[in-house]
Amino acid sequence: MTPARLDHCKEILERLIAFETVSTDSNFEMIHYLAGLLTESGATVDVMTSPEGGKANIFATLGESRQGGLLLSGHTDVVPVEDQAWSSDPFKMVEKDDRLYGRGTCDMKGFIAACMASLDVLKDASQYQPIHFAFTHDEEVGCLGAHTLVQEMRERDLRPRLAIVGEPTSMRIIEGHKGCCEYTVTFSGTDGHGSRPEIEVNAVEYATQYVTRLLEVRKELEARAPEGSQFVPPWSTINVGALHGGSAHNVIASKATLEWETRPVNMADLNYVKDEMAACQNALIDRMHSVSSKADIHLEIIGETPGLEPMKNNEARDLVSTLTGANGSDLVPFGTEAGLFQGLGMDVVVCGPGSIEQAHKADEFVSLEQLDLCLDMLARLPRALAASA
Ligand SMILES: [Zn+2]
Repeated sequence: MTPARLDHCKEILERLIAFETVSTDSNFEMIHYLAGLLTESGATVDVMTSPEGGKANIFATLGESRQGGLLLSGHTDVVPVEDQAWSSDPFKMVEKDDRLYGRGTCDMKGFIAACMASLDVLKDASQYQPIHFAFTHDEEVGCLGAHTLVQEMRERDLRPRLAIVGEPTSMRIIEGHKGCCEYTVTFSGTDGHGSRPEIEVNAVEYATQYVTRLLEVRKELEARAPEGSQFVPPWSTINVGALHGGSAHNVIASKATLEWETRPVNMADLNYVKDEMAACQNALIDRMHSVSSKADIHLEIIGETPGLEPMKNNEARDLVSTLTGANGSDLVPFGTEAGLFQGLGMDVVVCGPGSIEQAHKADEFVSLEQLDLCLDMLARLPRALAASA
């Protein structure tokens, strides 16, 4: 890559790092900065403010059509820096030993900076196929921005065909990861004297029956592992993360809360788990109600991020292989927004500069070499899209 382009990318990244876009805070300033760069380059830019306000997503397009073509996707938020021992101000980018340090350098403002520093080549590429950009808020707290963006894309018929999600993969091609779905279940019983269990509803006892069913379903998932699954383990998992309830030996427990998660390898498994647990919940509620109509079970969805399901045919994988020269692709154990885009019928891969090893840590960095590889990938897009147009 030309040193000038890498320098341009560094300048943009320095600006992006200075926007303190920790998930709890507004990302407006960064969104407006990006919207400005995109508009200057001739893109059609939609800034979509979140329903709660204070945050926004961007969807932008270079080229004539808002359908087909390639989507470049990144999240604008970063994880907090509290209680981390940084060697320098995390929101002031520092260059040292061919590395750029700062919160978000690798996860994942480096990718966004590379896209912005390549707007001229991307514009060139857009004469063959449209190039879209999706920059979202609140990825780190459950892909909240991407959920609303995908909804909006569905409603407005914004349909790119391929997507590259630029999470840090050391520029390796990632074609799959499990989903991550988290739930909190609250069991409300009736309190009473420990000597009269037959006339009360013991919330802890109902919680343990729910957990028993969860563990059975977990076992059933093993038999449902897709053939040839490359995931570790190859099947969908369930974890019982926390169970709290009750107060003392001789008191019937009136409250219990259970926190559990599932990491599905595909949508079918997620639906299976949800259906089975809904049936279990209903059966338990019926039994509770036969003792007291005041008793209840409430399920709260904390977050549901679908996985990226590896597909036999994946044009995005083929495109990125052509661009980077990489042969082969991998799976990763961390979640991304990719599965949400796949849910829209797009071919999706995850590929971006920097290593997940540095993400979320003190002294997060991206190497200049990684940024350069990403810029190279983008620079090859015009030729690749011309060839496949
Ligand atoms: Zn990320």
